[in-house]
Amino acid sequence: MAKGLPKRSEDYSAWYNELVKKADLAENSAVRGCMVIKPYGFAIWEKMQQTLDKMFKDTGHSNAYFPLFIPKSYLSKEADHVEGFAKECAVVTHYRLKNAEDGSGVVVDPDAKLEEELIVRPTSETVIWSTYKNWIQSHRDLPLLINQWANVVRWEMRTRLFLRTAEFLWQEGHTAHATRGEAIRETETMLDVYATFAEEFMGVPVVRGIKTENERFAGAEETYCIEALMQDGKALQAGTSHFLGQNFAKAFDVKYADQNNELQHVWGTSWGVSTRLMGALIMAHSDDEGLVLPPQLAPIQVVIVPIYKGEEQLNMIAEKVSVIRKELMKKGISVKFDDRDTLRPGFKFADWELKGVPVRIAMGARDLENNTVEIARRDTKEKATYPLDNVSETVEQLLKDIQENIFNKALTYRDEHITKVDSYEEFKQVLDTKGGFVSAHWDGSGETEERIKDETKATIRCIPLNNEQEEGTCIVTGKPSKQRVLFAKAY
Ligand code: AMP
Repeated sequence: MAKGLPKRSEDYSAWYNELVKKADLAENSAVRGCMVIKPYGFAIWEKMQQTLDKMFKDTGHSNAYFPLFIPKSYLSKEADHVEGFAKECAVVTHYRLKNAEDGSGVVVDPDAKLEEELIVRPTSETVIWSTYKNWIQSHRDLPLLINQWANVVRWEMRTRLFLRTAEFLWQEGHTAHATRGEAIRETETMLDVYATFAEEFMGVPVVRGIKTENERFAGAEETYCIEALMQDGKALQAGTSHFLGQNFAKAFDVKYADQNNELQHVWGTSWGVSTRLMGALIMAHSDDEGLVLPPQLAPIQVVIVPIYKGEEQLNMIAEKVSVIRKELMKKGISVKFDDRDTLRPGFKFADWELKGVPVRIAMGARDLENNTVEIARRDTKEKATYPLDNVSETVEQLLKDIQENIFNKALTYRDEHITKVDSYEEFKQVLDTKGGFVSAHWDGSGETEERIKDETKATIRCIPLNNEQEEGTCIVTGKPSKQRVLFAKAY
């Protein structure tokens, strides 16, 4: 129940943690940093998956599956890649346990040591490129456009349900192309897919941009990203799309014979979004009463609650409800009739509010007489009485309005929280008071970026795509700069 949910304005972080648990989305597990995703949370993730999966297929990709374990030697083949991931790898060293001699339980059997240690995949470039070597011979084998839905493990020290976990679910696209230009186009296409998904389905506006060298994916030539803003003014990296150049093709010797029968290294990309998107969805829209879900991703779009005295009234309501349900389902709208008879309507209202169901229909004795229903929307909490006759059209329109309203509200908040500053003083002041994205000139050096991070905890979220070119001076060093970049404190 909503009772006990901390207020966002008082403790945003506690509000988030409690909401994830109270709305039945996920819980912590025995292993630190790993989570159990509960059925209601998983239903939202499944809707995300289905939508994205269709978008990937519509852009020409096919799904495949590669192994969980990666031989340690593979990871070392691309120098930057191994350096980036080494600090958070889970390593398998043995394949058997045995009973302890002192009877205290089981211990690792020292005789079952693996010849080569195995890494639990933190990402699959290495295992996939070692496979692509066998799949790609000629220009006719290109482009190779593959996606995988999987779990990965990164031994993160500071974890938080959905936003940053040690094991997370994601999809990872891995593509191979004949030319540099084609691979860059693919990287941009997939960034577009992610941005469209975030905005049109999640209702979360995003900034599309490029990461600085410091924040780039280990092994990539360029990392593109979408960045979203949460209600506490912190940014969240919501998705990444990497142009890998020929780095992995060279590390794994993946070549194709071109039209002139000359051998060339192929060009690669990889791109991923994870269960972190669940965190973005929760943080971007929800309120002190609970979740606010965009209709496009809500597992239950409409809940119908009967208000009755006695079985006879319930039966009369149920009869009318079954007609409404059928009409809504015909329009592809998912409906739940909450006829649990041990709970009071007020309790049910609060429960579905907590779960973020976009539309609630209530039907009572007076509605039976007047042929009406009461319809309430979760986002604005407005309610009104409508005639029963065209309820399905009313609801269909309402779901569209809610989807739009949620996005517009987040967009207004985001736009109000992009602040241009021209001095380091102003920069720090905005970060401490208002939060959000701070747009400032930067001299382009990694050292300055590090210094700002150390002193303020803000990182460069991205250099926005289609950025306006504007002469200026770096807020820290006073050196010349050609454009502003977006800084923020981030999750
Ligand atoms: P990367 O492979 O580092 O580019 O990450 C791919 C996607 O996974 C990005 O959208 C990240 O935001 C997300 N991601 C990275 N680390 C984690 C984590 N520990 N938990 C959840 N999502 C993550």
